[in-house]
Amino acid sequence: MSHTILLVEDNEDNITVYRTILEHSGFRVLEARDGREGIRAAREAMPDLVLMDISIPFVDGWQATQILKADPATAAIPVVALTAHAFETDRARAMELGCAGYLVKPIEPRQVVEAVRRLLAPEPELPPGAP
Ligand code: MN
Repeated sequence: MSHTILLVEDNEDNITVYRTILEHSGFRVLEARDGREGIRAAREAMPDLVLMDISIPFVDGWQATQILKADPATAAIPVVALTAHAFETDRARAMELGCAGYLVKPIEPRQVVEAVRRLLAPEPELPPGAP
């Protein structure tokens, strides 16, 4: 079964690029173009992972992440923050909010797929006889 990725992004070019490569890589992609829509879509669809642009209308990506992490129903969904800035404070904030990852734009679409794959990979099984 393919994993579902919720892409919360307001830039049409980025939406097209990320959607295309994610679908090509076998993922199912849902879109939301602002923070409110993103929160609603996450609650309704329970995606396997959220790619969260930080600079989005109404409710920004930080607030949307905070809301999803505060809700027991959605707290376990990994959120990967996409920001346009490489500020150290942004990275710290992403970690503080419980983001599973943090990617700085412009980013190679392939790197987005790699980050998603890594986070959705099954836990390695313990070898027989491991404590
Ligand atoms: Mn944006």
